[in-house]
Amino acid sequence: MDSLPDYIYFDHAATTPVLPDVVQEMSTCLNKFYGNPSEPHLPGREANKILQNSKQTIGKAMNCSPEQIIFTSGATESNNLAIFGAAEAYQKKGNHIITSSIEHPSAIMPLRRLQRKGFEVTYIPVDANGIIDPEEVRRAIRPETVMASIMHANNIFGTIEPIAQIGNILKERGIVFHSDAAQTFCNIDIDAEKLNVDLLSISGHKFYGPKGIGALYIRKGTRIMPQLFGGGQQRGVRPGTENIPAVAGLAKACQIGQRNLVANIIKVTVLREYLIEKALNSIEDIRLCGHPVKRLPGNCCFILKNISGKAMVAELDKASIAVSGSSACAASSIKPASAITSLGISCDEAVGSVRISLGFENTLKEIDYFLKVFPPIVNKLRSGL
Ligand code: PMP
Repeated sequence: MDSLPDYIYFDHAATTPVLPDVVQEMSTCLNKFYGNPSEPHLPGREANKILQNSKQTIGKAMNCSPEQIIFTSGATESNNLAIFGAAEAYQKKGNHIITSSIEHPSAIMPLRRLQRKGFEVTYIPVDANGIIDPEEVRRAIRPETVMASIMHANNIFGTIEPIAQIGNILKERGIVFHSDAAQTFCNIDIDAEKLNVDLLSISGHKFYGPKGIGALYIRKGTRIMPQLFGGGQQRGVRPGTENIPAVAGLAKACQIGQRNLVANIIKVTVLREYLIEKALNSIEDIRLCGHPVKRLPGNCCFILKNISGKAMVAELDKASIAVSGSSACAASSIKPASAITSLGISCDEAVGSVRISLGFENTLKEIDYFLKVFPPIVNKLRSGL
């Protein structure tokens, strides 16, 4: 029987713990493989071997060749590189970009900047479950459309988008397709070929790897203008001496994630369904946000009436449970709640959102503990005590 830990971690969509084997791998690299991978001597060759092997591991996991993988500092950089890089490379062809209303700020902000520079951006809405209709994407295509950027799964409410169908439509029209897979890579099965994407962003710290490392898949033939300039590392697409320990940690996390993918999906989905069913039955005025089935295995996003997500996070933290809450629809233009209001939920209601994101190391016992402490917290906050 599992015992309860001192603190329960239910915020895997924000970041995951780092696996001990990943720490070990990184530590070995830091201690032994300090060479610059661009140098021809033995330490350089050893470091370069780790770099190449890591590209191979990531490539294998998403069904592409190692040369199509470019390491970055994470999904924020991958999204920026993909969006700015493709917009710049294809700007002579046209100035229209398609995206959705629920993207992560690391995609929205670069797109806003492109708008200020003269690009036109169409934001495709989502339905009440957070799904983007591929036909809406088709209707948004113009002769001057050069790129689309649509996330694989939403980080707040967990809906998984029909990327393969959208990609198929865009492929027919020769439009470059980027998808932000920060929440999906190594959490659900990913195949860059089957997804019909040209560019795919991933992030190490969303699948038990280190923070500050990620990658961008670039399909052969897809043009990208570098956004950093320096030495010729990574074919000049993303120069800078490669962070070998982080790269090795990313590859290790990927290897372990791939090995356990199916078992983890099953385990986490069972935990999720248990939590959702019990929470919906034991708390008043609560509803699930996002698609009931097409959702990330670990995502339980709820909206609770007459309550603040921020207050729920604080109270649960006092009860030694980490979850994530939506901030108010305040003055700032980008806030977590904007993806939730895209579902047709009012600003007032969206304030009461709480995201519980589970990982494979969570247990039924932890969920039972959460289900015991959460209803009284809700009652307390509602009664203003
Ligand atoms: N995209 C999505 C969907 C995310 O959830 C995140 C992380 N919250 C990012 C991009 C940014 O990733 P990183 O922290 O690796 O920059």
